[in-house]
Parts: sequence; structure tokens; C-alpha cells
Amino acid sequence: AAQRRQARIVIVGHVDHGKSTLIGRLLNDTQSLPDGKVEAVREMSRRRGMPFEWSFVMDALQAERDQGITIDTTQIHFKTARRPYVIIDAPGHTEFLKNMVTGAANADAALLVIDAGEGALEQSRRHAYLLHLLGVKQVAVIVNKMDMVDFSRERFDQVAAEIKAYLADIGVAPGVILPISARHGDNIASRSENLAWFDGPTVIEALDGFLPAAPEDELPLRLPIQDVYKPDERRILAGRIETGRLRVGDTLHFSPINKTAKVVTIEAWNAATPITASAGQSIGITLDQRIFVERGHVASLASERPIEAHRLTVRLFWLASQPLQTGKAYTLKLATAEHRVTVERIVEVVNIDDLSVRAADTVGRNEIANVVLHSRSLVAVDPAVDLPRTGRGQLLDGHDVVGGFIVTQADAVAERN
Ligand code: GDP
Repeated sequence: AAQRRQARIVIVGHVDHGKSTLIGRLLNDTQSLPDGKVEAVREMSRRRGMPFEWSFVMDALQAERDQGITIDTTQIHFKTARRPYVIIDAPGHTEFLKNMVTGAANADAALLVIDAGEGALEQSRRHAYLLHLLGVKQVAVIVNKMDMVDFSRERFDQVAAEIKAYLADIGVAPGVILPISARHGDNIASRSENLAWFDGPTVIEALDGFLPAAPEDELPLRLPIQDVYKPDERRILAGRIETGRLRVGDTLHFSPINKTAKVVTIEAWNAATPITASAGQSIGITLDQRIFVERGHVASLASERPIEAHRLTVRLFWLASQPLQTGKAYTLKLATAEHRVTVERIVEVVNIDDLSVRAADTVGRNEIANVVLHSRSLVAVDPAVDLPRTGRGQLLDGHDVVGGFIVTQADAVAERN
């Protein structure tokens, strides 16, 4: 059978609600653990005088990494009968939120783990909100530690109703909400007597039910230019097609320089020169005219260009311990472009718990705010509702990523031409 595409998942939720334990179980129950790991976990548990502790699987894998055996320090792989998975980044890792925001973790789907006894706490809600901001549309809610509430259906229904209402408020439709006990292995790879009243899927079935990422080549073309190469007399503009498709002969518009030119060739790495290319491909193109295109410019079709704006409103997730301040300058990163921006106005800060908003002069760490940014240079930008891939970016302070955002509004400068 053809190798199915790997699905990238993130596992989020409040600390101690059972993410690591679930990962340990998932790896074990899909026979994905390297030899000797279960014994290593048993030994780690014994030394600490504990019963077998599944969350130590992560530590056991970490120990292996520390010896430099695995190359990738942030990704954990497992496989079901249906397809391979990679868990992007490890929860509890200090850089976890930052990695999610910087898009290093561009996940296809997420598992949100909630302790059945505690219900959704503020951190659960913050993670759910972040999934929404990052455009992760497929979310399965896992109500864990059902053994601690006597596998009570009533308690499950209560927790499920609460989180469902919250997700609906922020615009996320949970694919499925399901009860498990990660510690005891109930409803992870197989159905459980203890949860006989539940007729929904196991965790593995929920994962396998996620759809592969939707093809993005039906959306308007966006090719942010990464580099310009001059191997000989030609100039090759290189970049990754974020959305849409292009073909030889297309007239491209370059924002924000407002110039057009025709595609003469498409250069693909390790392939004969193709006639067309589409979303997800990294390519080079040559043009029929010498125009001054550089890194950060965005190619589109003339009929469906990005907005060119000096002023944008963004919904921002603030990561830095130093608060965001009105009047302060930051570097705005959008695809391959960087612009110097100042914070013109903090419109409001969003209360994660009840989604109410309040006026504020600063935005603190882990807070979400609607903020107006101003750039002296023209910014080529798309509202995230139209083009999630290019409608999302980061703020930097020096080289530090201090916030992640989606663009909610951009004021187009008057039509040029
Ligand atoms: P994380 O911080 O979300 O990664 O949480 P951990 O996986 O480290 O789990 C925190 C604690 O909860 C550990 O002591 C686990 O053994 C315990 N735990 C996790 N899942 C369950 C469960 O299903 N039932 C019970 N009783 N305890 C659990």
C-alpha cells in the first residue's frame, strides 16, 4: 500500500492533566516504543518508589536524546494501522507555546487533554484559544483520569458540556469529546468495560478520523519570495507557494512594489522544469522582465492581490515577560517579510476565561489582545479569515519572538496603479 501522509498533532492541556501519560500509552499501545523502554520506565518508577508511571516514557525517550542517539529533539513518532503520526514538541517543554506560535508546529490536529475531576482550567482554555488563533481546526477533547471519578457518565457529560460551550464561543468545533484513563489504558487503543456506556471512538480511532490537511491550491496564489539567486544572467526568485497555484505564462503581481511580470520558467529542485506548481511546493521562477524583487515581496495573480496597508489590526498572543506597550517598536514578521512597526493602540485585552474584553495600556505574558500596528513601509497582508497561512505572523523584539498574531483587519491604501 502507498505510504500515507504523516499527520502532525499537538497535545495540549493544563499541566498534570495527563498529557505525558497519554503519550506514553499511545506509544506503548501502538507498539511504537523502542526496545527496552518499558523496562527503563519500570526501573525509573521503582527507583522513585512509585507504581509503573507511564509519563516517564517521555523521560526515557529524553534520556536517549541526551546521549545524542535521536537527531530530532522535539518530535515523537508513532504509527497506527491507518497512518504515521508525529507529535510535535513535548508538552511542558518551556518553549512549547513559543514553538506553536512561531509555526514550527504547524499541526494538522490537536488533542486537548482535560482532567475529569478538575474540568477545563484557565490553562486548558488558553491552549484551546491558541489552537483557534493558530488555525488548528481539528480538535479532539480527551477527558482523562476517568478512574478518579468512578468512570461516571454524569461527570463526563458535565465536563464535556462545559468545554463544548467554550470551544463554540471561540469558534472551534470539537470533532469529538471522549473519556479515557491514560494511567489504566481505558479507551486509548481499545474499548473499555469501565466505559461501556460510551459509544464514541477510542483515542486511536479519533486520531485516525482526522482528515488530512485540506489542499490549499484552490485558494488565491501567494508566493512570498525567500531569496533571489543569480546563477548566470538569469534571476531566479525562490520561495514556497503558501496557497494557490501558478503556471508558466501567468502574469504575476508583486506586492508591495506594485509591479507585474510574466512567468517564463518554473524551476523545481530535483525535477525537470514543470509547467505548473502549487501550494506546498518550494520553487524558483524566472520572469520576462527585470523588476526589482527581493526577499519579503509577495507574488500573487493580479486579480486577487493581498491588501497593501500601513495599518493592521491583529489578535495577538503575547509571550514575553516584558509587557507589550503602546508606542513601542517591534519587528513584524509575515511570511518572508519583515517590517518595523509601532504599537499604535491596544484596543482591548481578552479575558481567556469568559472571553470578555477590557481596555488596557499594556499586554502581559500569555494574554491575548486586539492591537493596532502601524508600519511606515507598506505591508502586503491578508486577513486570516481569507488566507490563514499568510494572515498569520509574529512580533519580534530584537531576535526574540515576543508574540504571535492573526491579522483581523488591514486598511488598504488607496488603489495605486
Ligand atoms: P502532564 O503534565 O499533562 O504531562 O501530566 P502527566 O502525564 O505527567 O500526569 C500527571 C499525573 O497524573 C501523573 O502522576 C500521572 O500518573 C497522573 N495521571 C495521568 N493520567 C491519569 C489517569 O488516567 N488516572 C489517574 N488516576 N492518574 C493519572
